[in-house]
Amino acid sequence: MTDHRGNGTWIDLDRDRNLVVPPDPIIGFIEGDGIGPDIWAATRLVLESAVRRAYGGSKRIRWHELAAGEKALAAVGEPLPQITFDEIRKCVVAIKGPLTTPVGKGFRSLNVTLRQVLNLYACVRPVRYFPGLPSPVKHPEKVNMIVFRENTEDVYAGIEWASGSKEARRLEAILKEEFKVSLPPDSGIGIKPISRAGTQRLVRRAIRYAIENGLPSVTLVHKGNIMKYTEGAFRNWGYELAATEFADLAVTETDLEQKHGGHVPEGKVVIKDRMADSMFQQVLLRPEEYSVIATPNLDGDYLSDALAAQVGGLGMAPGANIGDECAVFEATHGSAPKYAGLDKVNPGSLILSGVMMLEHIGWREAGKLIEDALTRTIQAGVVTYDLARQMDGAREVRCSEFARAVVERM
Ligand code: NAD
Repeated sequence: MTDHRGNGTWIDLDRDRNLVVPPDPIIGFIEGDGIGPDIWAATRLVLESAVRRAYGGSKRIRWHELAAGEKALAAVGEPLPQITFDEIRKCVVAIKGPLTTPVGKGFRSLNVTLRQVLNLYACVRPVRYFPGLPSPVKHPEKVNMIVFRENTEDVYAGIEWASGSKEARRLEAILKEEFKVSLPPDSGIGIKPISRAGTQRLVRRAIRYAIENGLPSVTLVHKGNIMKYTEGAFRNWGYELAATEFADLAVTETDLEQKHGGHVPEGKVVIKDRMADSMFQQVLLRPEEYSVIATPNLDGDYLSDALAAQVGGLGMAPGANIGDECAVFEATHGSAPKYAGLDKVNPGSLILSGVMMLEHIGWREAGKLIEDALTRTIQAGVVTYDLARQMDGAREVRCSEFARAVVERM
């Protein structure tokens, strides 16, 4: 289906769910709340400049604004109207600034709602170091990883009951009567579902990413020695998928030692696994041994924030939530309301999410231009307040000035 609106063309999906991207794709954007408008304006300037530099006039993004957050609440009385979900599906690709979770009963986190309703099952977070950024470790440049965190299952699925609630008491009784398991009577109870299908679609995406980008390994991170039937199963189903769907392209770490004398056969991705607790040590002590990581929801949440801190903090950490139908690229920090409208904060996280978006639609040349220009800007010590206060000899600039400094260095 190609639907021309005279103002851009919709991105399509082919039968294998690969993107079919026209030269004038309509891409949805949510400006966001709080600092959202500042960082979105900066990001838009950088993205448009990079596309123009990379392709002349032959490619151009047609932006389509989507209603969400405080703007939508004021206009239509709800922060995430149904039309926004429909339009994200129609656009296939969207980018968003942070949304403030409305205070008061009955509002769930808008970000969680977006992920659940659109079935954006993979939370993807690349973590790499930009020279010059303040870092708490000696060799942050050794970190170059991309975390694929499962986004819909695990203890984060929201299946839980408060201590003393009717539901918790009933579950306690069932566990006691039918399974001979006794819980302390005042327990709050949460359920941790991890499914084969949910695991394998995530691991499939991680392995494909490694293959398409020529990366050396995929590490399954889990706590399967303790949680055998959830996290242990995640590990087993991950290996199972690698063996069945990627037999020609992947080799396990065990086979590498036993059958290949420790040498990676040409063109193969190594599949390995690590316990989550040990992984936190590994990323500090031997970060160069890890590349793509696939992990359940809770482990992934902790690990991606820890990794972001290792290379200079959340202000520069990009992210995406990806499903089979659509993908939403987003800043990983919140809406920082106290800085709203001050043109002060760091737009780096959203700009780098834009780079991920360009790569996702196959416009890698434009993405590379931005990454290189951003690197040069930081190396020149031109940064926003959050980084300037941690760097010697830095020149503090406003959010919009940072964007212009990046464009000048393209
Ligand atoms: P926050 O990330 O908005 O801000 C915490 C602090 O981090 C800020 O006060 C600021 O000092 C710093 N900070 C954040 N982004 C920055 C940037 N780009 N540059 C420089 N400094 C930056 O977290 P919060 O205060 O806990 O949450 C505020 C609101 O954002 C809440 O309503 C929350 O629900 C929402 N939130 C949204 C998202 C999202 O949209 N993905 C994520 C987290 C929180």
